[in-house]
Amino acid sequence: MAETAAGRLAQIRDRIAVAERESNRAPGEVTLIAVSKTFDATDIQPIIDAGQRIFGENRVQEAQGKWPALKEAYPDIELHLIGPLQSNKTHDAVTLFDAIHTVDRDKIARAIAREMKAQGRTLKLFIQVNTGDEPQKAGVSPKDAGAFIKRCREEFGLTICGLMCIPPVDEEPAPHFALLEKIAQRNGIKGLSMGMSGDFETSVGHGASHVRVGSAIFGHRD
Ligand SMILES: *Cc1c(COP(=O)(O)O)cnc(C)c1O
Repeated sequence: MAETAAGRLAQIRDRIAVAERESNRAPGEVTLIAVSKTFDATDIQPIIDAGQRIFGENRVQEAQGKWPALKEAYPDIELHLIGPLQSNKTHDAVTLFDAIHTVDRDKIARAIAREMKAQGRTLKLFIQVNTGDEPQKAGVSPKDAGAFIKRCREEFGLTICGLMCIPPVDEEPAPHFALLEKIAQRNGIKGLSMGMSGDFETSVGHGASHVRVGSAIFGHRD
């Protein structure tokens, strides 16, 4: 492992390129989201300097503390919300973020639609699927995904750009990636947000469009 975050970022990019090649994907097809949660602007700056522009955060309030200034300095930065969204935070989330990966219920879908309209902003939206049907985890159940996607499109007028999953920690991720890929294909969805530090290469083999990598770039989180 490289000693600096920028060095580790370069290694992750190389590994994504190898995984793309090995799974017959086009070069550059997979988008790397650098997950900067718990790290502050001084940790993030070297990664921006290394050319990374797409970042992920899992909490609205934490992101509000560091990203407005960085986004003003680097207008081409794209910020993705990858953690659960409470409906009372929807206004702030739509103001700050460029993508939300955790659309998983009618109340949130409706609130996002309303806020995007009110603010004249269009965010990239991903529906989170709880592929392991874990009771403590957010996301729509795989068996309800098709109906929810349909409601998002027809009832709330949302364009769904992808599906997202976080496989159970104690299971092989591959079957979960395969399930997400199947649900996406069935519903005519192209984007797949899946794969983290420990399993992003596997996810690329299953068609990931976005991988969310944190600790392998920024280091261990406390
Ligand atoms: C923290 C987090 C990641 C990144 O996890 P690492 O294992 O540090 O790469 C990816 N996705 C979500 C939803 C997260 O909360």
